[in-house]
Amino acid sequence: MNTVTALSTGAAPFQPESAPDYLPAAILRELQLGRLRSIVERAWSAVPLHRSRMKERGIEPGDLQSLEDIAALPFTTKADLRDTYPFGLFASPMRDIVRLHASSGTTGKPIVVAYTREDVDVWTSVMVRSFATCGLHAGDIVQNAYGYGLFTGGLGAHYGAEGLGATVIPISGGNTDRQIMVMKDFKVTAICCTPSYFLHLLDRAAQMEVNVAELPLRVGVFGAEPWTDSLRRHIEAAAGIKAYDIYGLTEITGPGVGIECVCQAGLHIFEDHFYPEIIDPDTGRLVAEGEEGELVLTTLSKQAMPMIRYRTRDITAFVPGSCPCGRTLRRIRRISRRSDDMFIIRGVNVFPSQVETALLAVEGMLPHYQIILTREAGLDQLEVQVEVTPPVASDRVAALESLHNKLAHALSQTLGLRVKVRLVAPQTLKRSEGKAQRVLDRRNA
Ligand code: ADP
Ligand code: ZN
Repeated sequence: MNTVTALSTGAAPFQPESAPDYLPAAILRELQLGRLRSIVERAWSAVPLHRSRMKERGIEPGDLQSLEDIAALPFTTKADLRDTYPFGLFASPMRDIVRLHASSGTTGKPIVVAYTREDVDVWTSVMVRSFATCGLHAGDIVQNAYGYGLFTGGLGAHYGAEGLGATVIPISGGNTDRQIMVMKDFKVTAICCTPSYFLHLLDRAAQMEVNVAELPLRVGVFGAEPWTDSLRRHIEAAAGIKAYDIYGLTEITGPGVGIECVCQAGLHIFEDHFYPEIIDPDTGRLVAEGEEGELVLTTLSKQAMPMIRYRTRDITAFVPGSCPCGRTLRRIRRISRRSDDMFIIRGVNVFPSQVETALLAVEGMLPHYQIILTREAGLDQLEVQVEVTPPVASDRVAALESLHNKLAHALSQTLGLRVKVRLVAPQTLKRSEGKAQRVLDRRNA
């Protein structure tokens, strides 16, 4: 399919900023190599940590002759950001830096990232392209329920939606009743937030007797935490919208590293700015095309804080072949999990996403759940608390018991492990306004 046909079949008018999405592969690779060379040169000359790592490996920026040579460069990790806290990886003087953001990180000190004016413009442009990719355009009314502040989600989506020419409602996270009022009264057509928060919005809307499926809302741009395809189907059916997965991380820029197009068949990576590799997390070597591994990203244009081969810890795989939408940008599968969110129960590896998939496979289940790990008499126990839907809650004891058994069975089958299931009343599990915390580990409490 040529670009023009691809575009004419899409839902939205062509957005000029999206032109790089359709570059012929050879031209894209050439552009990437040129940018890679200059960014590595910049990292070498301005950031002591990058220079000393390269020296340890006996390489210099001039050694980069082809894109494959990137494999010789050292990795950067979250620990490097923590060790150089707060400004140690900056490649620009503060007078050229127009913005700082920080990510809470899971332990201790936050990690801090910097942007020059040009970096903010690039970030805006990839967010404009992200929204255009999932069919938004000028005229859309975008409710931005990502948190504004140090977190990159709010401002990233804000600049992108404005750059697209859409109307932004900078409502930020929280105050759910007001979110629902605004969604209805302002005739919102698109919403940005975490998938877990959107579920919470849907529940609350039902209590307020607002049927979201009857509102003009047509698109949800959901990200910042892992979610499953089953959850997508649940959301799409319940809200009468299309739900798209957007991916990004603070260390690389924030949201806008990649997003699904209307084909919903993998996330296109904006490869002209972010160079993706997928490695075996144990050996550090590239996996075979199409195999699962850890995503490694190199920023190709970031001035204030270039990242060389940053290990995201996010597990995915390249989607082979070309996308019917006509974009030449490579795609990755949705991030199924992080290499570090796995927990081990009695020797069995468990990921929260497996629990979600198993729960959603049982009919009548709300995807509100919490995983609790405890230790009883030296033995690890896994309990999954699941909220029942209001009609189920008023059922007879026998019906609840049957549901309980179905869930326990589905979970044990999927995880290969005996799981304690506890059904809880609707609205009793804590709701998140941002990233959901699915696992409570009380084993060492
Ligand atoms: P952000 O502000 O984009 O959420 P953070 O740096 O706080 O950035 O978190 C980034 C991490 O969040 C990623 O490394 C990944 O683990 C997770 N994440 C972001 N988007 C997604 C997504 N669409 N699917 C799964 N995980 C995601
Ligand atoms: Zn596509």
